[in-house]
Amino acid sequence: MIGIVEAIELVKTHSKPITKETHKSLEKAGRYSLYKNVVSPINMPPFRQSAMDGYALCLHDSLTYQLIGEIKAGDSLQPTIKKGEAVRIFTGAPVPDTANAVMMQEKVTVTDSQIIVEFQIDTNHNIRPAGEQVKKGDVALKKGTKLTPAAIGYLSSLGIQEVPVFKKPNIAIVTTGNELVEAGQQLTYGKIYESNSKMLQNALYNLRFYDVSLHKVEDDFDRTKSKLDEVINKNDLVIISGGISVGDYDFVGKALEELHVEEHFYKVKQKPGKPLFFGTKNNTHIFALPGNPAAALTCFYVYVYIALQKMMDASVVELPRIKAKSLTKFIKHGDRPQFLKAVYNDGEVEILEGQSSAMLQTFALSNALVYMPEDHSNIEIGDSVEVILLPV
Ligand code: AMP
Ligand code: MG
Repeated sequence: MIGIVEAIELVKTHSKPITKETHKSLEKAGRYSLYKNVVSPINMPPFRQSAMDGYALCLHDSLTYQLIGEIKAGDSLQPTIKKGEAVRIFTGAPVPDTANAVMMQEKVTVTDSQIIVEFQIDTNHNIRPAGEQVKKGDVALKKGTKLTPAAIGYLSSLGIQEVPVFKKPNIAIVTTGNELVEAGQQLTYGKIYESNSKMLQNALYNLRFYDVSLHKVEDDFDRTKSKLDEVINKNDLVIISGGISVGDYDFVGKALEELHVEEHFYKVKQKPGKPLFFGTKNNTHIFALPGNPAAALTCFYVYVYIALQKMMDASVVELPRIKAKSLTKFIKHGDRPQFLKAVYNDGEVEILEGQSSAMLQTFALSNALVYMPEDHSNIEIGDSVEVILLPV
């Protein structure tokens, strides 16, 4: 059995970025990272553009100009303006080649066919040169850039519709257990409704991993082994629920061993979630989470989350941890460090009643986990505690 810090380090060390390329339309490319440099197909702006509502001038020594026309945004006029002449112009409109500056309208007095500007301005004043942001053929955004809304807007402005991005992992969730029935089926004696697959699937959707398939297998060695073989070969990440403990009908560990999955750790000194397994085979990351629902979800947030971020080559890979003032007393039994379901609000945290690893009701009310290290046996009201903020 290893400690939490060591287990987290092993997840960080053995989780590798997915280096496969995929193509996404821009509207679906949010949060992906660019797989290659994207080259601009155009100059941006494509033409000399007015940055103001005002007057495009062909500069001369006097402050008075002859007004000879008007250009609005979207017009494709190219009037010839001689020295001392001006055209009315609006923001985003093309500045004629023969104009060399734009005076904002607030600094202009208009009299019939003449305008008087308040002061002299320099050449190119209030003109956005063609290609000011990026020139045709230059790198618009570099490989690895995360596609934020601003990046999507910028690429759209270049007329780009599709981008090469790093593929996100495809993920299989495998639930084990003869006792599990699906919602909609009759709950006969000895059975329970299966909850971990939808819970984990939703946790993944929340993090914008949508390529998730669900699988279930009975507590049977051969079936477990063949199902795991199949999903490990087809996925970047396999999350198994249950069957990893020490019961006579827990077959996941043996199946993973026979499938030659390289074990990085099995069993972590923590509560909940002691029987946690992490391993890899080729480029597939494999977690076997304990079946108890609250333990499974805790392990997801503390460990699987990190593997997902690593696979995406993210720079920040752990959920945020902050200090908060405890509103509740808590006494820890035993020497295992504990993750406690809690509600965080504005610098304060309430540890909830009902910390059993089987209790999802408490988890459903939580937005945080309080981390209680091994050497702390009790928390008093007002104590400063470490809080992991959940992405809820
Ligand atoms: P296991 O880790 O397989 O020993 O399961 C531990 C506990 O979690 C048992 O009470 C199981 O019935 C329960 N459990 C396991 N898998 C699930 C699941 N997918 N949904 C709900 N409960 C589960
Ligand atoms: Mg089981």
